[in-house]
Amino acid sequence: MISRPPEDIRYSLVVPVFNEEAVLPLLLHRLEKVMAGLDARTEAIFVDDGSRDTSSIVLEAKAKDDPRFKYIRLSRNFGHQIAITAGMDAASGEAIVVMDADLQDPPEVVGEMIARWKEGYEIVQARRLSRDGESAFKKKTASLFERLLGKLSSIDIPRDVGDFRLIDRKVLDAFREMPERDRFVRGMFAWLGFKQCEVAFHRPARAAGETKYPFWKMVRLAVNGVVSFSDAPLKLAIWTGAAVSALAVLYGAYAILSGLFTDHVVRGWTSTVVIVSFLCGLNMLLTGMIGLYVGRIHAEVKRRPLYVVAKKIGFSAVANAETRERTRVA
Ligand code: UDP
Ligand code: MG
Repeated sequence: MISRPPEDIRYSLVVPVFNEEAVLPLLLHRLEKVMAGLDARTEAIFVDDGSRDTSSIVLEAKAKDDPRFKYIRLSRNFGHQIAITAGMDAASGEAIVVMDADLQDPPEVVGEMIARWKEGYEIVQARRLSRDGESAFKKKTASLFERLLGKLSSIDIPRDVGDFRLIDRKVLDAFREMPERDRFVRGMFAWLGFKQCEVAFHRPARAAGETKYPFWKMVRLAVNGVVSFSDAPLKLAIWTGAAVSALAVLYGAYAILSGLFTDHVVRGWTSTVVIVSFLCGLNMLLTGMIGLYVGRIHAEVKRRPLYVVAKKIGFSAVANAETRERTRVA
């Protein structure tokens, strides 16, 4: 499945947008400035992830007015990771950059990324030197999660790296061959390999509006990361199960022996309750853990498309036909 740039576009910027009306004017302004400074034709693709504010109106108008700006509206909120996937699917550049809409990923860094790409790197990650405006709690949990995932998974997922990155078209084509439903995009790029490098930047606070990643969404992303890239929990289930069974055998032997050779047997109510409840709890825990994986198998087996596009503005007929082709394959 080869995707040829239909309009001679060299760079694609992919921006997922979910209720970002507060930041859009500033974003468009900064993007236009950056795009004007780049040395080749650039498109900016906005993926409207089911926004319920005026983001859609602003972006639609922009796409109708300026052919460099393109607009995809998903039929509902599919979540950040899927939104960036949809945007990358529609990108036609030779180098593709994914960045957040809230200007926490400063568009000005793109020039530097492109310079590294020209040196021959196929994935250029942006590493955060600092993170302003994020709560100590968010930073702490993020770093804990990164450390845990690093320990559990067999591939090396870079630290302090989010979804702000440049990828070469080759990498994108490989990425599009990965049809998994529960996507942890940064892990998927780590898995892909290729020639990778990093550029460092200071991550400012969100330019306007509020975070669209409340605590429970972060937890979901973290669980996805672990379950997609590690089978350690499954193994944990096996080892805990084995250890508890061994203890139970020992305790059982002790119970039988004391039943046979002593005369203080019927007092065992407490121990019975303790054992039964402990084992029940353990059982549930382990079943739940297996359920996590079975749930994903279920999701994969359904083979639903990853997302549904409700509307597209600014794309050529060729590009549209290509996307249709891809969504059908997915
Ligand atoms: N976003 C999205 N769909 C969602 C949640 C977020 O497309 O369901 C977008 C959002 O508009 C932003 C980017 O993903 O461009 C990152 O979100 P946010 O800045 O709220 O996350 P944070 O930086 O707080 O982790
Ligand atoms: Mg943000």
